[in-house]
Amino acid sequence: MIGRPFGPTGASVPLIGQGTWNVPTRGAAAEAARSALRAGIEHGMVHIDTAEMYGDGAAEELVGAAIAGLPRESLFIVSKVLPSNATARGTIAACERSLHRLKTDYLDCYLLHWRGTVPLRETMGALEQLVAEGKIRALGVSNFDVDDLTEAQAVLEREPIACNQVLYHLNERTIEDHELPYAREHDIATVAYTPFGRGAYERGPGYATLVAIAERYGVTPAQVVLAFLTRTADTFAIPKAASVAHALENAGAGDLALAPDDIAAIDRAYPAGRRRGGLPSL
Ligand code: NAP
Repeated sequence: MIGRPFGPTGASVPLIGQGTWNVPTRGAAAEAARSALRAGIEHGMVHIDTAEMYGDGAAEELVGAAIAGLPRESLFIVSKVLPSNATARGTIAACERSLHRLKTDYLDCYLLHWRGTVPLRETMGALEQLVAEGKIRALGVSNFDVDDLTEAQAVLEREPIACNQVLYHLNERTIEDHELPYAREHDIATVAYTPFGRGAYERGPGYATLVAIAERYGVTPAQVVLAFLTRTADTFAIPKAASVAHALENAGAGDLALAPDDIAAIDRAYPAGRRRGGLPSL
């Protein structure tokens, strides 16, 4: 699994990580999901993305079970505070609850899930305090457009923004003309969420191109999708898999480097298009 610097953190993080939104949290399906996370970790997908919102904390508990017994330093655990909790005190308390559910004593990165009504200065100040206290190693944001990023940077006093986690898939590439260049200029990692775009890439006319490329490399179209989204030096993807088979398939994409001609062909098959309105999100 290829790793690359995660923004300004100094950490080398694998291109492909693991999401946990809507991960099953009960019964046999939860056990399968825990095994999938563990298998993914064993195959190099040590970047685990979760949030207090996912399953009202149950996803964090599942991650806690999946990482039990593993050397903490080998993992890169990311969680997120809900905007409704993102006051000065609320952010600290939410982080402590997440640490408790994850059964760990620090997060590698802690994000504001999306911008709400709490002033950014207050939330960013709390995130900086968490860094100072050693409860998080780095801070980041999610669903931030360029204006939000600029404002967040302006109110931060000591810490840089490590990452911006945004919607990015073959049928939604507009970050490439907006948030991605900004992030690149300011050394902020870009993390692609919902990289499979709910399967939209399989339904369009570009799919034949993807299948042909996958066949030539002896990989699956899903692996080509992940390789395309992480083709530049500052992007990461966090697909969610609830089965070991999907997790291993996704991990396999972490070593797949597409040739420039193939990248150009996918670019033509799934044109980036122009953004209408604000930053798309789910
Ligand atoms: P996704 O990862 O694009 O897609 C998940 C779906 O793809 C599941 O149905 C999964 O099936 C399937 N899948 C996984 N691997 C596959 C493979 N190799 N081949 C075919 N299908 C495969 O969608 P997502 O869960 O929305 O996004 C990923 C993560 O991003 C989330 O889990 C979450 O951590 C994060 N996220 C963040 C935000 C935010 O606001 N910051 C928003 C959305 C998502 P199985 O489950 O059956 O394996």
